[in-house]
Amino acid sequence: MVTNRTFTMLKPDAVEKGHIGAILEKISVSGFRIVAMKLTQMTKNDAEAFYAVHKERPFFGELVEYMTRGPIVAAVLEKENAVEDFRTLIGATNPADAAEGTIRKLFANSISENAVHGSDSNDNAAIEGAFHFSGREMF
Ligand code: UDP
Ligand code: MG
Repeated sequence: MVTNRTFTMLKPDAVEKGHIGAILEKISVSGFRIVAMKLTQMTKNDAEAFYAVHKERPFFGELVEYMTRGPIVAAVLEKENAVEDFRTLIGATNPADAAEGTIRKLFANSISENAVHGSDSNDNAAIEGAFHFSGREMF
């Protein structure tokens, strides 16, 4: 069911540091099923569109640079209450504020390079999943 899906990206810093396996393990043991997944790299246009909601923010240019500098892992995940539970699993945007044991606490360096993305609503989860995957790539 669409309402039980969320969308994630393991961001360029996490991929660069070799944390794909460790982060996917945490996601898996936390009860999320992988519906779709790929290694991909966003273009400037992709990142500007994906983060369009933030385009007036002072960090927008830096965010686009960061998100396009190397490959990411994009994935759609399924679980009851997926959006909220995944936001709990990743922790606060700023890893300094993230709870112990969360993915950002464990793997992120800073509020900008924070290892992982998680959708903030069911509607955005559907939009963001469709941004990266066709229907044939979701299982
Ligand atoms: N970000 C940043 N500086 C800030 C806030 C956010 O560089 O002061 C970046 C960070 O990578 C964050 C992304 O912009 O994950 C999107 O921000 P949002 O507020 O949506 O945080 P999230 O939903 O990812 O926790
Ligand atoms: Mg957000």
